[in-house]
Amino acid sequence: MSTFKMAANCIFCKIIKGDIPSMKVFESDKTLAFLDINPLSYGHTLIIPKHHGAKLTDIPEEHLTELLPIASRIAKASGAANYNILQNNGRLAHQEVDHVHLHMIPKPNEQEGLGIQWPQQ
Ligand code: ADP
Repeated sequence: MSTFKMAANCIFCKIIKGDIPSMKVFESDKTLAFLDINPLSYGHTLIIPKHHGAKLTDIPEEHLTELLPIASRIAKASGAANYNILQNNGRLAHQEVDHVHLHMIPKPNEQEGLGIQWPQQ
């Protein structure tokens, strides 16, 4: 089990510790994925390194290696045909929570809706 930098006043560090509840989608030693509390679409998921850092450039690379593979796995599991993966750094780039996170946002199809099975609770 690795050790991580944590920030006492960070909402996502509190989610990692279990002090704030979340709808977990995936968890490993160094990565956590959970549903966004204010989803842009059904299944909108956040994928975060457990190591605290505000921006991508603040996180040691060894804590970043799982993020994209897990985003891919979640996108695949969702069955979504269309989706955005995005990550904001800094206020001018619309970052609001200062703990690195990838958004996985399924995009509904106008004819068929989302057509996804994720999440299955
Ligand atoms: P933006 O809000 O512009 O997308 P970010 O990229 O920093 O900025 O995204 C932060 C995301 O974190 C938002 O989508 C928000 O809904 C989500 N969020 C904030 N608090 C929680 C929480 N307690 N549980 C789940 N998601 C959260």
